[in-house]
Amino acid sequence: YLLQLYQPLNVFGFVYRGVKEALNEMERMFELLSVNQEVQDAPDARPLVCAGGEVRFDGVRFAYDPRRPILQGLDFTVPAGHTVAVVGPTGAGKSTLSRLLYRFYDTTQGRILIDGQDVRAVTQESLRAAIGIVPQDTVLFNDTIRYNIAYGWPGADQAELDRVAEAAQIATFIRGLPDGWDTMVGERGLKLSGGEKQRVAIARTLLKNPPILILDEATSALDTHTEREIQAALRDAARGRTTLVIAHRLSTVVDADEIIVMDAGRIVERGSHAVLLARGGAYAALWARQQEATLAGP
Ligand code: ADP
Repeated sequence: YLLQLYQPLNVFGFVYRGVKEALNEMERMFELLSVNQEVQDAPDARPLVCAGGEVRFDGVRFAYDPRRPILQGLDFTVPAGHTVAVVGPTGAGKSTLSRLLYRFYDTTQGRILIDGQDVRAVTQESLRAAIGIVPQDTVLFNDTIRYNIAYGWPGADQAELDRVAEAAQIATFIRGLPDGWDTMVGERGLKLSGGEKQRVAIARTLLKNPPILILDEATSALDTHTEREIQAALRDAARGRTTLVIAHRLSTVVDADEIIVMDAGRIVERGSHAVLLARGGAYAALWARQQEATLAGP
């Protein structure tokens, strides 16, 4: 993925768009992805062999700063093709999990395994090819909606683009744009709403077709209609893939095979939605609070 980022930004960015704009875009990308350039391939790194795409966190501890531990020993498995949702208060360490899986950082202790292979033992290129991320905030380029969705896959044909746009529930929106797929978007074009940007990200990810999916749900509340469309798109995207949902709200977790409740870098509860509600613990409390907030309105 990073390679995909670098190349278009360097080659096309510098040549066609001007240095300043390319630099701005790159800075934004790095900020958003919290890229740590210190992570390097091991000298004997091999390509990841992804069969089903089982993801396992094994005794994972992590700190951005050694004086402040963030993850304090996490053990969980996302079986191949299943969905695990991680919930918990802000700052619990949920997004950090996705950064470790994508290997923007290495664990301080413990291992992360994909189909039994330590992510530190495989090439970053193969790792990032196997994982699709739908981030909280999607960067849009000042270019056409086509460029933005086909980003990283310049060879995608129209039939493929139509298929992923349909699945991401953004096809109708695109058809309604003044210049359709050739409409300029981004800061200097049509500004997309948070929900529309997220659907662009879903379409982009569907084009990549990765066996493993990380959905980092947006923090901000969306209106009910948009929320429902996004949920349908996400459910579609997750089908048949190993999916880790980082749920800042609880809207996408109800159907997860397992829900992991984190607090301060630890797992405090785990189970299905029904089991956790019945238990009346931390998850039930989060759920009750969210229901109240929803009823009260934004
Ligand atoms: P969540 O997604 O559950 O809200 P995060 O994983 O984003 O939590 O953050 C967990 C903790 O790690 C927070 O206290 C946050 O301040 C800290 N943190 C996140 N990113 C960084 C970073 N790049 N450098 C230092 N600390 C960070």
